[in-house]
Amino acid sequence: MKPKFVVTAGPTREFIDPVRFLSNPSTGRMGFAVARAAAEAGYRTTLVAGPSTLRTPPGVERVDVLSALDMLDASLAAVSAAGGPCIFVSAAAVCDWRPATCSRQKTKKGSSSSKTLRLVRNPDILKTLSLARSRGELRQLKLVGFAAETGEPSAEAFRKCREKGLEFTVANDVTLKGAGFAVNTNKASIAFADGTLEEMGIMSKLELARRIVALALQ
Ligand code: C5P
Repeated sequence: MKPKFVVTAGPTREFIDPVRFLSNPSTGRMGFAVARAAAEAGYRTTLVAGPSTLRTPPGVERVDVLSALDMLDASLAAVSAAGGPCIFVSAAAVCDWRPATCSRQKTKKGSSSSKTLRLVRNPDILKTLSLARSRGELRQLKLVGFAAETGEPSAEAFRKCREKGLEFTVANDVTLKGAGFAVNTNKASIAFADGTLEEMGIMSKLELARRIVALALQ
């Protein structure tokens, strides 16, 4: 049976009140490119997308989400529905923290000159899936992660492979010109669970996505 791809993309939004949220500058380009490449190669593909203005690639089933908790639920549902081998590619820039409470009403600024916002940790989606696999619930699942780093990426990338049970981590230094948020190109190195590293040149996100899909299928 051919594997199904489940890809996460884009940022998450963590609401403070109905009109304010915490987020990050991710546009979703890398994840959308992976979903496009997987569908183009003939695989069933579900894209779990945080807020993004990008168009759904042809042949891709898209599930829109806002928060990290929603993304976790939608990812678990999509992976569980695979009914066979599944490759989960986690390209989303998931917010690590969310406000401890989200007020139903818009909060007033009042007269104080400072305000404290209490945050709680969001669950790690990759780790949650990896733990479910260790418990024997999602046996035919392969995990691929990303690491957006600001500096020498490879050590961190290998650590993520170990900690999150990944086949490989796609690491990129987001401070490099032509890599990272809101550009169409990327320069990545791929750190494999067996300790090998593949350094890639600068290429379009779609070319990198095709390489990721091919490596995930090996
Ligand atoms: O630990 P760090 O956030 O740097 O790891 C990045 C990788 O983990 C990415 O693949 C990202 O999509 C994934 N991630 C996740 N759930 C989170 C945070 C990150 O799946 N809460």
